Amino acid sequence: MSEISNISYLKFLQSSGVTTFLQNQPNNFYTLSTNKKIPLISDKIEDISNIKELEFFINTYGHCDLKQHAKKTVIGDGNTKAEIMLIGEAPGAEEDRIGKPFVGAAGQLLNKILAAIKLERDNVYITNVIPWRPPNNRTPSNEEILQCLPFVQRHIELVNPKFILLLGSTATKAILSTSLSIAKLRGNWHDYKSLTLNRAILCLATYHPAFLLRSPNYKKKSWEDLQILQQKILNEN
Ligand code: URA
Repeated sequence: MSEISNISYLKFLQSSGVTTFLQNQPNNFYTLSTNKKIPLISDKIEDISNIKELEFFINTYGHCDLKQHAKKTVIGDGNTKAEIMLIGEAPGAEEDRIGKPFVGAAGQLLNKILAAIKLERDNVYITNVIPWRPPNNRTPSNEEILQCLPFVQRHIELVNPKFILLLGSTATKAILSTSLSIAKLRGNWHDYKSLTLNRAILCLATYHPAFLLRSPNYKKKSWEDLQILQQKILNEN
């Protein structure tokens, strides 16, 4: 798809009233099937021009219940100009305590995974779909994902990476607008399209490091995915 047609296609979809992101369970972006309204994030998010402003915007956003239970708002870590962006699910206990993504046990494994393809945290930018820790580390609901989606979407636009590595099923369904499993999606590149970026960003979905800690048998598949990413980086540079 050409650069121009990407934007005009998305505008066409928008003007046609396409507002769903999970195919199996259509959700309107702003009106839930439960009739509970998601507080609308103002259009001002599009005016935000850097990560600091986005951080302030998210820190002062007062409509997400998850924020009431969390100790810290976790925005991102790493190099905001990186070519590679990693997106996880939500902070865990350690991330909530420290205020940075992936600093607990899953983060230690992520550092090793990155090192295996010769990347350090300074070579990537890391964020989550949800900036607040869900109580007892539960999986965020679709409502919570929808509510926080504009944050991570703007985050992607501001970092403007060449590649996105989606860690686990929450990041994958949020960013690729699909309910297909990682098992189905991994191993191939997928396009992420945005109304303000004049190109599609290549995304690779893989298993979440916390899942790999629980199910080490999947580390081989994760290693295969990371090699796909490494090969792409080498080919591009
Ligand atoms: N799991 C995530 O998805 N993100 C974190 O930051 C930590 C654990």
